Amino acid sequence: MAEIENKNPGKDITPEDLETKFPLAAKKHPEHVSKFTIAGIEFGGKGLPIMAGPNMVESRDLIFDVAENIKHCGSHFLRGGAFKPLTFPYRSPKYNETREDGIRWLGEAKERFGIPVITEVMEERYLPLVCEVADIIQIGSRNMQNYPFLTACARTGKPIMLKRHYGASLRDWLGAAEYILVEGNERVMLCERGVSAPHTHRATSRYLLDLQVVPAAKEITHLPVIVDPSHATFWAPWVRPMALAAIAAGADGLMIEVHPNPSQAAVDSLQPIDYRSFHSLASAASKLKSFLIAGEFG
Ligand code: PEP
Ligand code: MN
Repeated sequence: MAEIENKNPGKDITPEDLETKFPLAAKKHPEHVSKFTIAGIEFGGKGLPIMAGPNMVESRDLIFDVAENIKHCGSHFLRGGAFKPLTFPYRSPKYNETREDGIRWLGEAKERFGIPVITEVMEERYLPLVCEVADIIQIGSRNMQNYPFLTACARTGKPIMLKRHYGASLRDWLGAAEYILVEGNERVMLCERGVSAPHTHRATSRYLLDLQVVPAAKEITHLPVIVDPSHATFWAPWVRPMALAAIAAGADGLMIEVHPNPSQAAVDSLQPIDYRSFHSLASAASKLKSFLIAGEFG
C-alpha cells in the first residue's frame, strides 16, 4: 500500500481499510486498473461502454424499438427494468412491472438485434430466470447493502454492476463490492447514480450527481466506475452536460435512459432522452473519451 500517499485515502477510509476491509476492491498500486470483457465489450480500457434504454421494459414493442434504435445510435448494451424498485406500492396498469414477460422480451430483443442486456434483479429467486438473458446483472441502489443478495448474485458468475445507494459513503460502497469479489466474481463495476443532498437545483430533482466520487473511487479501487446521469438529475436537459462531465471526471462508461417518446414514459418521464439526443450524446461522448485518452497516451 506504500504507493498510496494519502494518509487518509478517503474521508472515512484509512490505509488499514485497504488491507483489511476491502483488500480485493483496493488498488495494489497506482496503475492497478481492472480490465475485462463482457459480450465482446471491454470495460476499464480505452473505450467507453454505453448502456441505454428505457427505465422500464414497458412492452415488447417498446423494447424492440429501443433495442434497434439505440444500437444504431451507438449503445453497446440495452438497459431496462422488468423488475423495478418502485417507490410506492400502488400501480396503474401503465405503471405495471412486466416482470417475467419483460425478461422474456429483453431476451427476444437481444437475439433479434444482437445487443447484450443489462437488467436489474431484486430477489434471489429470480436470478436463474434473469441470468438466462442478462449479460450484466444490475444491483440497484436500494439493494446495495443487501448482503445475502450480493452473495447470491456474485455466485451466479455473471458480471455485476453495483449501483451506489444514494446515502452510501465510498467506504460502504466498496464494502458491498467486496462481498461480490470475495466470491471469486471479478467482473464487477460500480455505478454512481446520484446522492441525496439538500440542494438539488430543481424541485423534481431528488439527487445530486456526485462526480467527485469518480476520481475519489479511482484513487482507491481498480474497479471500473460507470456514471448514470439520468437517475441522478431526473431531468433530461441535464443528462448531456453531466454525461460529458462524467467522462471528463474519468468515468469508464455511461448508463443513459432513452425512450422513443419521453413524455409518454411509464416511469420517471422527466429523465429519459429521445433517440436524436442520444445519438448526438453517444457520438460526443466517445469523441470526448478518445480525445482524453489521446491526451494521456499520445
Ligand atoms: C434503474 O436503473 O432503473 C434504477 C432503478 O436505478 P437506481 O437503483 O439507481 O435507482
Ligand atoms: Mn429507473
